[in-house]
Amino acid sequence: MEKIFKRSDGKELEILYPPYCEVCGNPIPDSFARSHPYCGACNRTSDKYDPPVRVRAFGKYLYQTEFPDDILSNEIRSLKTEPAVLPRLQECMYHAMKHQYPELQDLDVVVPVMRGSNDGRYNPSALLAEGIA
Ligand SMILES: [Zn+2]
Repeated sequence: MEKIFKRSDGKELEILYPPYCEVCGNPIPDSFARSHPYCGACNRTSDKYDPPVRVRAFGKYLYQTEFPDDILSNEIRSLKTEPAVLPRLQECMYHAMKHQYPELQDLDVVVPVMRGSNDGRYNPSALLAEGIA
């Protein structure tokens, strides 16, 4: 599986690739994947076979203090207040649905989930979801 996605703006972004936890989407070591497809935390939960939510990610979101030059992480942070990066992040999401997680193309509904309340103001999760839908 490819590990780099070259976006239309020429930026090369590292993408997540298997093995990853089937519930939370976090990367897991190959040794875990051979025995079960879950991270340690999810493997201890009772609903891992039918979890209410499954998470999938295009790439890693890294702390700014440790990785100040990571393009994807900086764009995600920027989207929280500035919609200019929306098309670039939507392109990443399209790529993820087409190549990383094609099973997501069969979903009927896209529901944006945003932590906290925004009282009807700018909602980046909704904008991303609208693009995917
Ligand atoms: Zn997990």
